[in-house]
Amino acid sequence: MAVIGIDLGTTNSLACVCQDGRAVLIPNSLGENLTPSVVSVGENGEICVGAVAKERLISHPEASASSFKRYMGTNKVFTLAGNNFTPQELSSFVLRQLKEDAERYLGEEVTEAVISVPAYFNDNQRYATREAGRLAGIHVERLVNEPSAAALTTSRISGEEEGSYLVFDFGGGTLDVSVVDYFDNVIEIVAVSGDNRLGGDDFDEVIARSFCAHHHMDYDNMDQQKRASLLRLSEKCKKELTCQDETELVWEAEGKRMPLNNLLLAGLGQNLFDRISQVINTALRDSARSIEEIDEIVLVGGSSKMPVISLYLQTQLKRKPNMVASPDEVVAMGVGIYAGIKERKQDIRDLVLTDICPFTLGVNVVNYVDDDNPIMSAVIERNSVLPCSRTDWYTNACDNQTKIVVGIYQGEAFYCNDNLKLGAIEMDIAPVRKGRTRLKVCFTYDINGILEVEVTDCTNPGVERAKRKVLTSENLRLSDEEIERRLKELRTYKLMPHGGIRAKMVMARGERLYAQTLGARRQEVAAMLGQIQQAVASGDDRRLNECLRMAEELFGHLDT
Ligand code: ADP
Ligand code: MG
Repeated sequence: MAVIGIDLGTTNSLACVCQDGRAVLIPNSLGENLTPSVVSVGENGEICVGAVAKERLISHPEASASSFKRYMGTNKVFTLAGNNFTPQELSSFVLRQLKEDAERYLGEEVTEAVISVPAYFNDNQRYATREAGRLAGIHVERLVNEPSAAALTTSRISGEEEGSYLVFDFGGGTLDVSVVDYFDNVIEIVAVSGDNRLGGDDFDEVIARSFCAHHHMDYDNMDQQKRASLLRLSEKCKKELTCQDETELVWEAEGKRMPLNNLLLAGLGQNLFDRISQVINTALRDSARSIEEIDEIVLVGGSSKMPVISLYLQTQLKRKPNMVASPDEVVAMGVGIYAGIKERKQDIRDLVLTDICPFTLGVNVVNYVDDDNPIMSAVIERNSVLPCSRTDWYTNACDNQTKIVVGIYQGEAFYCNDNLKLGAIEMDIAPVRKGRTRLKVCFTYDINGILEVEVTDCTNPGVERAKRKVLTSENLRLSDEEIERRLKELRTYKLMPHGGIRAKMVMARGERLYAQTLGARRQEVAAMLGQIQQAVASGDDRRLNECLRMAEELFGHLDT
């Protein structure tokens, strides 16, 4: 049985399988490698995922959701046409769709997968990703950091096995920059840095805001549907600037337009470039490398296709970045290769990969100046190689203390309160003088992001007492029974059937255009939609195909 690799992206998701040692991307039912990570509840309660859902995001915003990966591991609830879903449930629909497409492509059942997550994902987010897999009926064999996967593909494509790489992964909603070494058949991720609130979407937004400023419109108070239309047009405009230097943002429905070129876009993105620069500097600093010691700068992620990005990197780093074949497919291919390693395919078995811990893990120590504001004491430092186990010693802060609460935190802030609390272990101790208690704290963090903390009271040799905790943040996590119950409920939501996908895609596109246009164009769209419905109802395939061809032509014309 095949293990597939999945890049579960904020914007787009892909599936990949390792065949004869090569990563093969799995096309979805529309024949595309990228499936937009968008979910929509259809008129009959069926779940649409991907391009159809992306169209519905504009025509039926109240029934659709996107970018939910940003909320993985939080309590946020999305309401789609009256149905409530958590981010991991919405992700599970995407996974279910990818699994189905993979099964059709491979002709066998798929029950196991390796899934990639951004290096900056914390424990809750990683846990939520596993849960999404479980809800989709997939056993998640392993989670891998996206930069690790990107690095793996990159070295394979370039055929350049020896060297240091700077991997710049700029997607729709996240930026990950990593320094990667590949020597003696060992890939080692030396450092990662990231901003999981920075991506190509931000460029769409600066374009949209500039358009509004240009036309004295209020971007912030625009209604949801209108804003979605404008953002879509902005994205289209941004993509056009990847293959041509000048274009125009035309908003038909509003009768407004604005010229745009790459120079202007570079100016609009100034703020974003500053943030990009910070992330790169942190990665280089943490890796203790100078840019001169990097052999190759590799561009990954859809937003890396933008000329303003490669130009910026080139001037900033004084080096020409290397664009691998399709930057937005690089992570998926790497995860596919990981999946192959998982299956122990002969030819890549001896490839060793080292992952690193992207954040600092530690415990609270008393702050003598401010009791309520304990200070973070790092046990496992950011960028430690995984799996890793570290031990530290702590003691009692006052005389005759009878209890010590060891709080477990994740993050880079000086004060614990500014970091994420993962849990706590309470130890009863014998009352002794301040500084006499000997508490051993051991952190073990494995490659799946599961943290085990053991606290041992070693004050009296021979009568040591230990308490262990495997970290789960109860408030965010479901018990096994809850997962079972939710699994049953989710099964009642059916994915849109594969048959007639082309007609549905065309209909969804038409409905979106209907929402976006006015007047004669709108009537033209409406008439075409009516024709398609009749053709579908007629059950006459030839008539339907002809009708769809005409509709695609018309809609394509209206979209340009
Ligand atoms: P993620 O990893 O976040 O799921 P991707 O790597 O698929 O995302 O990148 C998606 C982003 O790439 C989007 O913001 C999209 O607008 C942008 N993008 C895709 N193709 C192009 C292009 N040709 N030019 C500019 N931006 C692009
Ligand atoms: Mg990505």
